[in-house]
Amino acid sequence: MRKTFPFLLFLFLLLCLGACAELSTPEPSEAPLRRTRYEIEAELLTDTHTLNVTTTIRYTLPQDLAAVKLRLYANAYQEAVVSPSKVSAAYPVGFDRGWCEVVSISGSEDLPSYDIGVEDPTVLTVRLASKHKRGDELTLSLRTVIRLANVKHRLGYDSDSYTLSGFYPVICPFEDGKYRTDTYYPYGDPFLHETSDFDVTLALPVNMEAAASSLPLDLRTEGKRAIRRYQAAEMREFACVASPRLLYREDRSGDVTVRYYYEKDSKYAETLACIREAVTTFEAAFGSHPYPSFTVVQAPFFEAGMEFSGLAIVNKELSASERKRAILHETAHEWWHGKVGSDEVRHPWQDEALAEYSVLYFYACHHEDSIVKKAVDDATEEYVIYASLKGDAPVSHPLSLGEDGYVETTYRKGLLMMISLAEIKGYDEVNRALRAYTDRHANAVASPDAFLEAMQDLTDDPDYFDRWLYTPLPLE
Ligand SMILES: [Zn+2]
Repeated sequence: MRKTFPFLLFLFLLLCLGACAELSTPEPSEAPLRRTRYEIEAELLTDTHTLNVTTTIRYTLPQDLAAVKLRLYANAYQEAVVSPSKVSAAYPVGFDRGWCEVVSISGSEDLPSYDIGVEDPTVLTVRLASKHKRGDELTLSLRTVIRLANVKHRLGYDSDSYTLSGFYPVICPFEDGKYRTDTYYPYGDPFLHETSDFDVTLALPVNMEAAASSLPLDLRTEGKRAIRRYQAAEMREFACVASPRLLYREDRSGDVTVRYYYEKDSKYAETLACIREAVTTFEAAFGSHPYPSFTVVQAPFFEAGMEFSGLAIVNKELSASERKRAILHETAHEWWHGKVGSDEVRHPWQDEALAEYSVLYFYACHHEDSIVKKAVDDATEEYVIYASLKGDAPVSHPLSLGEDGYVETTYRKGLLMMISLAEIKGYDEVNRALRAYTDRHANAVASPDAFLEAMQDLTDDPDYFDRWLYTPLPLE
């Protein structure tokens, strides 16, 4: 996610106050598991703001198990999905409750029972009739009805614009002999996504346009419904934004189709060129874009932007310069989230610091040195003000530590960690190490140690990253 810069707000308040091994890597003696496959049929009913979803999941058990755990992220919307200070930005008419109702669960065998909300309201536990062995393939079919909240967030609507992500049940990641069932925090991106394959059939009112994680294979009309079919391989998630007011333009960067969907942008051709140039620049620096297409869409959103595999949201209210920066940040996440996954709950710096670094690299190699300097100065100032009030803190800020300091450490100090290295070694050397990191961990979930290993030859100081990441030292 791209966070809006809260420095002025921060000053105002001052005045007023006076990842371990790769998760998907099997033990050496074990055969790799098949990728999980989601077949999703969803229909949006705009008069009731509901989404009817049937999800068939083909899943291979990662060890001997008698139950499978999934996430129903729509249930996070039973409560405010943002912190109290952001409720007015996220909820245009005040808090509005959303939820997910499970209509039925069936499968390739009898499923005796299920529970929702034992660990977290978003966690669904499906018990199996008998204990199954590692490598057994299960098919689960879940019918759900989602009541969408009126919220400018990852899942919800505002006016006639609908943002649909996390609308289907997702198998929980499996780590150290058990499922991960992390709290859904109302800040940061509280996810750890492994790659999966998707086959999505989406029925929308016929007047609606849709921007999605992949391009539609076909579009047919049935009465008042337009039905699009998508297939997307090895993606972290499938997401979509639908609105009757979206227009789009398309271009290419090498083999990648680039699309820009917009509601209001008089300079749409410049914006599309920026998206294309971002893909071209990051491909040259970090390796190939991981998907056949990349789409940016203007949408109602409470922050500057949000990344998904193959799709990025930018807040439709941003100014042109804010929009450009948000596009660069979210496009960079196609590498630092899409291509190389990371644990965004425990190690949120791992994708955010690299996305922030990538933005400044883009400006630097397009000779916009004044923007680079200002961004570094702003990040330094914001962190120093935070540290003077709350004390120094390391870059690594797990979401469990709370929202206070999350932006100042993860984004601002994380950016300074990467830029300081680029000032010593040069962008080319840093990018060469990052490219080796993406090549080695493409489509996997990389641990912090995997990142450190890729970076180890960049500096003669063996403690460089440990100091920044884990030690609460002041800036030098
Ligand atoms: Zn981000």
